[in-house]
Amino acid sequence: MVEMEFHRVAQADLKLLLRLPFLLLLYRFEKGRIYTFIGEVVVSVNPYKLLNIYGRDTIEQYKGRELYERPPHLFAIADAAYKAMKRRSKDTCIVISGESGAGKTEASKYIMQYIAAITNPSQRAEVERVKNMLLKSNCVLEAFGNAKTNRNDNSSRFGKYMDINFDFKGDPIGGHINNYLLEKSRVIVQQPGERSFHSFYQLLQGGSEQLLRSLHLQKSLSSYNYIHVGAQLKCSINDAAEFKVVADAMKVIGFKPEEIQTAYKILATILHLGNLKFVVDGDTPLIENGKVVSIIAELLSTKTDMVEKALLYRTVATGRDIIDKQHTEQEASYGRDAFAKAIYERLFCWIVTRINDIIEVKNYDTTVHGKNTVIGVLDIYGFEIFDNNSFEQFCINYCNEKLQQLFIQLVLKQEQEEYQREGIPWKHIDYFNNQIIVDLVEQQHKGIIAILDDACMNVGKVTDEMFLEALNSKLGKHGHFSSRKKSLNVALACYSVIGFIDKNKDTLFQDFKRLMYNSSNPVLKNMWPEGKLSITEVTKRPLTAATLFKNSMIALVDNLASKEPYYVRCIKPNDKKSPQIFDDERCRHQVEYLGLLENVRVRRAGFAFRQTYEKFLHRYKMISEFTWPNHDLPSDKEAVKKLIERCGFQDDVAYGKTKIFIRTPRTLFTLEELRAQML
Ligand code: ADP
Ligand code: MG
Repeated sequence: MVEMEFHRVAQADLKLLLRLPFLLLLYRFEKGRIYTFIGEVVVSVNPYKLLNIYGRDTIEQYKGRELYERPPHLFAIADAAYKAMKRRSKDTCIVISGESGAGKTEASKYIMQYIAAITNPSQRAEVERVKNMLLKSNCVLEAFGNAKTNRNDNSSRFGKYMDINFDFKGDPIGGHINNYLLEKSRVIVQQPGERSFHSFYQLLQGGSEQLLRSLHLQKSLSSYNYIHVGAQLKCSINDAAEFKVVADAMKVIGFKPEEIQTAYKILATILHLGNLKFVVDGDTPLIENGKVVSIIAELLSTKTDMVEKALLYRTVATGRDIIDKQHTEQEASYGRDAFAKAIYERLFCWIVTRINDIIEVKNYDTTVHGKNTVIGVLDIYGFEIFDNNSFEQFCINYCNEKLQQLFIQLVLKQEQEEYQREGIPWKHIDYFNNQIIVDLVEQQHKGIIAILDDACMNVGKVTDEMFLEALNSKLGKHGHFSSRKKSLNVALACYSVIGFIDKNKDTLFQDFKRLMYNSSNPVLKNMWPEGKLSITEVTKRPLTAATLFKNSMIALVDNLASKEPYYVRCIKPNDKKSPQIFDDERCRHQVEYLGLLENVRVRRAGFAFRQTYEKFLHRYKMISEFTWPNHDLPSDKEAVKKLIERCGFQDDVAYGKTKIFIRTPRTLFTLEELRAQML
């Protein structure tokens, strides 16, 4: 009995959780129970082994049930979000967070599979088609957006938010994907032990001989500078097999053959670009391996001399004159790498756009079909603090601060609203409000991003050190900011400023954009519309990378805030990908920064447990003679009051309009014990 009821205790015993949350997670983890509820948040600990808990029979057990009726599970949250959407026509969202390798992406896939499994009972063909596309899109995005890292063999290197649209019957009719900040620096360089994006290895290992020949590629991974670092690494992805799966998925989704070919050509172009060598002859840089340039020209459907020119020169307008300025060797290498990163990023964004074109809801008439509702699923990078943190970590952690801000606000808000709805007095509680850190980063004129943008605006040579000086003079007195030579501290994370200026400016010489736009391959040409502008027309500075990211985060948070949120917090039990180890320190740390403690505190400030009178009676009516087997009181509420008074718990509860609220878990345990004695 005690064992069976453990999931109930788990969500109720917040006191224990507050003191020793990781102990509770440990206890459950060792029993193979990877999911735990804290209030309405499901905490998930990566099991690092396949569990038989996602099958058809499990799905059936959760379908249409209330949140606490079944043991904690992702499906319970997915079902709750789905029910809210269907019954109350609410837009909902499921926010999945946690550090790299904690299981976010797997969780998002199980959630989508669950939703796919419980919808469309009448098997409408159009709905089946949409579901299939939504599921298939994952594997394409993973091929191009995921990579092996030291933390995760299949690490998502982009953030993803996916809306699923439903019709009035509650069946999926389309969707939309937003992607955030692809880690494109990986295209040209990887840490030891890591690889570039899966797509490169898949093409080289899985592409037919004929395909590779047409792309002038050889199978050997170590022949290519951009990917040779991780060439020999073992990876749990089967590249060759996956190549075919992805190609099929692209076909099914509706990519045209020439579009798929173009994607391969871009991958091949990048591999060849990496092998380009510049040699200096006097002052003039030359390309050592000219053959590679003609291959690139062929792949990009353009002319060899144009590729060569874009690599070695830069067209600049000085006053009324337009001149071709020759690159130094360093500039040429920089330009080549920037080009490789840019065409990869553009390819990735284009893939997302194409998927969206295909899956977006078409011809939905709200006057005929009623409201079109949405469930959003957010699978986004968690806090990352490495030994050496750069611009990417800065952006990622800023994103998490924003989401944390939303989480705190919403959990508090939800709690408060429930008390209001039920007519129960609410006393305000304190919690660490990280708004101050969010402001430090994003505030107009005064925030770190604004200061960074200012530094990037300067004409002439701007260095990362100059940026650091600007930070010092403007933020030196801020309580959550400090700096050392070459690094800045925001709250607890320490970032190296090296590379901030370059990465924020994200310069791609115009010449490359024009080169792409002038391609005779229409797919490529369409990816680069801005290449249309001539040199004299290009005047406006493009927004910087940090500002673009900031804008996308603000839009994301606004969007999430407009929906009813459900949370999945993923925890990584150890750094060895082992199903056996539960590293206390690591877990304690994650419990802390995921805000689970705040979460618990908010709940505890009020009531640990709440349930409708009807359900409460159903479970506990055997405890008192007034309610067993049935009561003759005017309402369930009156009956519950009688039962509670009979047990002497009246001081520990509050009676809402439809629910009873119990303050301490102890009371609930005693009720459980009393119940067990009666059975
Ligand atoms: P994240 O997206 O948080 O970086 P992933 O979802 O990619 O992490 O998970 C990393 C790895 O952990 C997966 O490739 C898989 O091996 C394992 N894993 C994650 N969740 C589960 C799960 N629910 N069951 C079994 N293995 C899992
Ligand atoms: Mg992931």
